[in-house]
Amino acid sequence: MVKVNPFYADLLPSYLFRDMGNKAREVKEKNPDAKIISLGIGDVSRHIPNTSIKAMQNALTEMADDSTMRGYPPELGYAFLREAIAKNDYQDFGIDISVDEVFVSDGSKCDVANVQELFAADCVVAIPDPVYPVYRDSNIMAGRKIVYLPCRAENNFMPEMPKEKVDVIYLCSPNNPTGAVASKEQLKAFVDYASKNDALIIFDSAYKEFVRDKSVPKSIYEIAGAKKVAIETRSFSKTAGFTGVRCAYMVVPKELSGLNAMWIRRTSTKFNGVSYIVQKGAEAVFSDEGKKEVAEVISYYLENAKIIKKGLEEIGFKCFGGDNAPYIWADISKTGLSSWGFFEKLLSRAFVICTPGSGFGKCGEGFMRFSALGKREDALEAIMRIKDLKEKGEI
Ligand code: PLP
Repeated sequence: MVKVNPFYADLLPSYLFRDMGNKAREVKEKNPDAKIISLGIGDVSRHIPNTSIKAMQNALTEMADDSTMRGYPPELGYAFLREAIAKNDYQDFGIDISVDEVFVSDGSKCDVANVQELFAADCVVAIPDPVYPVYRDSNIMAGRKIVYLPCRAENNFMPEMPKEKVDVIYLCSPNNPTGAVASKEQLKAFVDYASKNDALIIFDSAYKEFVRDKSVPKSIYEIAGAKKVAIETRSFSKTAGFTGVRCAYMVVPKELSGLNAMWIRRTSTKFNGVSYIVQKGAEAVFSDEGKKEVAEVISYYLENAKIIKKGLEEIGFKCFGGDNAPYIWADISKTGLSSWGFFEKLLSRAFVICTPGSGFGKCGEGFMRFSALGKREDALEAIMRIKDLKEKGEI
């Protein structure tokens, strides 16, 4: 038997969504006629914008002709998409990001998991708690020391500053799971910390399109000095319904001594690029029509968020997030149930799935994550069922 990576033994043994799925299957087996509604997993329910679909259909047609077909894509992304990203997502907002700092990928999950390959094995990594688990698990697999930064209601769920020197800090805004957004001042404090301590920030803004409040930064590069200390990841998944077709990008500024060149080296060694068809679909998101379609879909999800948040608040749950994010973070501690207990109660008695906060870290205990990325009718129905359960005194 081969000698295995010993650090895998440090991972939690099971995976949150698999456990939730197993429990949902058990309930369905016992109640075959029940319609289970999921406000759990963060997948989207609205289709890809028509503009992108047409662009992908045209690209596919090009593949059907020897004179226009494309083979391997460039590993770092086609110039047309890198240019569209640099212009539409940065330069048009007065942020100086150039094409050769933008790297197209097949998903932010891969980017945030792979980026740690650039750091030394003995780097100390700071990770918020609760957190999107990929930051944590990818660093555990590499055997790094992790320092957790608690996120609490008193601090609007922004991570506390590291109390010891750390080398890398992961931040996510709008946040999964809490729905919190970082203000300019809060991001500046992290940029200042990173500048003073020679640390690097990985800023995940997969949900940036949900930010409607103009005072909330969508990019860490809105903060002066951030290009010297931060990498940023973004995704077409939640904004343009690309969870199934896969496209994202990462910005690695040239100011980050050597990291831009290292990322090019790593990516051209390990990745063969995102398909032409998908990149054409992503490019179309930046057309006038594409932007309009995306804005409409985001408004739909934000309206779902409003419905879920209002409904939960009406029955006495204190809720956070949901205003500039598709997630509502509900405080269920007063029910006396643990977050898994609340999950089981809602699933078995209301046939509604939401995500136990403790699955995102210790500080998530006592909270539930509700996703607004589903269908409107499901959000309305789920809230009705939860209210009913409350009236019966079960939660
Ligand atoms: N980053 C965060 C914070 C997420 O919540 C998710 C998906 O849920 C991702 C990244 C993954 O995005 P992608 O679909 O581009 O891999």
